[in-house]
Amino acid sequence: MSGPKGFANGDELIAELAAIVGAGNCLSSQSDTAPYASDGRGLFTGSVAAVVKPATTAEVSAVVSACAHAGCGVVPHGGNTGLCGGTAPGPDGRDVVVSLERMNKVRLVDPANDTMTVDAGMILQNVQAAAAEADRYFPLSLNAEGSCQIGGNIATNAGGNAVLRYGNTRELILGIEAVLPDGSVFSDLRGLRKNNSGYDLKQLFIGSEGTLGIVTGATLRLFPARRQIETALLALASLDDVIALYLDAREHAQEFLTAFELTPRIGLTMAMQHVPGVADPFAEPHPYYVLLELSSSQTRVGLGDLLVDLLERNLEAGRIADGVVAGSLGDAQDFWRIREGCVEAQRIAGPSYKHDVSVPISAIPGFIESTKVTLELAYPSAAVVAFGHVGDGNIHFNVCAADMDRAEFAAAQHAIEEIVFDAVMARGGSFSAEHGIGLLKRDVLLRYTTPVGIDLMRAIKLAVDPAGSLNPGKVLHAPPAVPERQMEHATQ
Ligand SMILES: Cc1cc2nc3c(=O)[nH]c(=O)nc-3n(C[C@H](O)[C@H](O)[C@H](O)COP(=O)(O)OP(=O)(O)OC[C@H]3O[C@@H](n4cnc5c(N)ncnc54)[C@H](O)[C@@H]3O)c2cc1C
Repeated sequence: MSGPKGFANGDELIAELAAIVGAGNCLSSQSDTAPYASDGRGLFTGSVAAVVKPATTAEVSAVVSACAHAGCGVVPHGGNTGLCGGTAPGPDGRDVVVSLERMNKVRLVDPANDTMTVDAGMILQNVQAAAAEADRYFPLSLNAEGSCQIGGNIATNAGGNAVLRYGNTRELILGIEAVLPDGSVFSDLRGLRKNNSGYDLKQLFIGSEGTLGIVTGATLRLFPARRQIETALLALASLDDVIALYLDAREHAQEFLTAFELTPRIGLTMAMQHVPGVADPFAEPHPYYVLLELSSSQTRVGLGDLLVDLLERNLEAGRIADGVVAGSLGDAQDFWRIREGCVEAQRIAGPSYKHDVSVPISAIPGFIESTKVTLELAYPSAAVVAFGHVGDGNIHFNVCAADMDRAEFAAAQHAIEEIVFDAVMARGGSFSAEHGIGLLKRDVLLRYTTPVGIDLMRAIKLAVDPAGSLNPGKVLHAPPAVPERQMEHATQ
């Protein structure tokens, strides 16, 4: 165990942290800490003083308290699947990474209350499985569910594939336990559905990306287990048809409509090129594909008939060009594989700029079409892949380098970003619908948020974390005190 570079009392701090979590759960050598020095996409790499892996809330509290006394930063680390650099430590070797991976247990299942209380380090897939074991359904679902943690989902207010029916993570959380920057513990895991006693403090921690507290536990809202699922993959000629189909499905399937996911032709082509097992189920290519899912916890409702009725009506109306209905779970998985393969293929195909935006649903066709034209005129060798959660108005508007010269593509980043975000904001949208801010989008947050909004965010951060020690520099640029901290380090 070697002491951190960043500050004089580093060896003492490491010894203190090791005493709290056990020597085997306190890493400080460069080789041991290296996997925790970068965010999951490898966009940002910092320098770690130590990585600690507490097993209980009391240990997290003691770790954070020790760090507060030592004057170092604390970076919460979940599954490291976040897409905005939120887990990257700072550059000066003064941040302690707190990994929640050992806090991975179900604390309590309460079927009568339809709630489950879990440790924050539980992998999302294990949370879903624990709910299923209790004959319940926890609906948060995203492609990273095999490695992201529920604490990370809460910290980023994750969205995913079932928001249309069940809402974002925020809607799924009834209680939070979190360690504050001074080590004190806020705990309200009562799982109440009604509670108007003062400010709703749990909301502070949901979506705040580890800048206000380390989430250590949560009480989750459960739903009845799904007894019927019907999935169809539909081919459409235009985005206007996509929206018309969505409105019709929403009107007629109502609460049974659980997913409405868009993949453009280029996304399917890329997936077939790069991802094994992805195939085009249609005889001819089509401009757009929609994965439509209906589900119900009841067996009395004939979901199959409802789907057939929906598809026949929209075929007759000319909105659907072609379609296939899943006859088995395997078919449904193949359809989802196309949607997921679209994402995976872009990662394999080369660099891309990812814009995770939302606009009002009615504005989706105009936004995608006109922004695509603007970008194609400016950068004819790049390729736009616009896909995602249409039912939530959330489009992943990605611009891939494709045949564009890599240096030119790198130089064009800000110009591309401006074209996309200006188009979004002009339509009353959001430049960050799901993935958050982290380090990546701090300047964009400043550009598109009102001064009153930014001042309010700064005031909250200052009130909860006056030393600025929790996930320093994430979401909001660090206040002037932190550059001073770096200067102090530079002279040591
Ligand atoms: C293939 C893929 C698909 C994805 N699909 C979606 C999607 O559909 N919808 C969506 O919203 N996101 C999606 N994401 C993004 C990502 O999976 C989510 O943001 C996820 O919620 C992050 O969880 P994590 O445990 O990996 O968090 P991390 O990446 O470890 O951390 C993310 C942020 O939260 C903080 N944090 C982590 N744990 C805690 C904690 N216990 N307490 C306080 N702060 C904490 C970190 O400091 C960091 O700022 C996807 C990512 C990938 C790679």
